[in-house]
Amino acid sequence: MAEKRKYKKRYCKYCEAKVDFIDYKDASSLKHSLSERYKIMPRRLTGNCKRHQDMVTIAIKRARSAAIIPYTISRKEVVVNPFEIIK
Ligand SMILES: [Zn+2]
Repeated sequence: MAEKRKYKKRYCKYCEAKVDFIDYKDASSLKHSLSERYKIMPRRLTGNCKRHQDMVTIAIKRARSAAIIPYTISRKEVVVNPFEIIK
């Protein structure tokens, strides 16, 4: 347990916000669980609960197929805040 944690608090952001349904069209709500390269963050890093992680995973996969968020981005396109592009 000596290893440093990248993310300090472990709580579910969606439980805190009392989210019952995650809309795949709402990219800003999905960004909590996406890395800067648009990979789905694992639950051990985000601290999401199982229920919300499953909902987020489904929503992200739907959003990807609907071209709302990209599957991957190339190395050159990695920017500080990739979610500004979405807006
Ligand atoms: Zn939760």
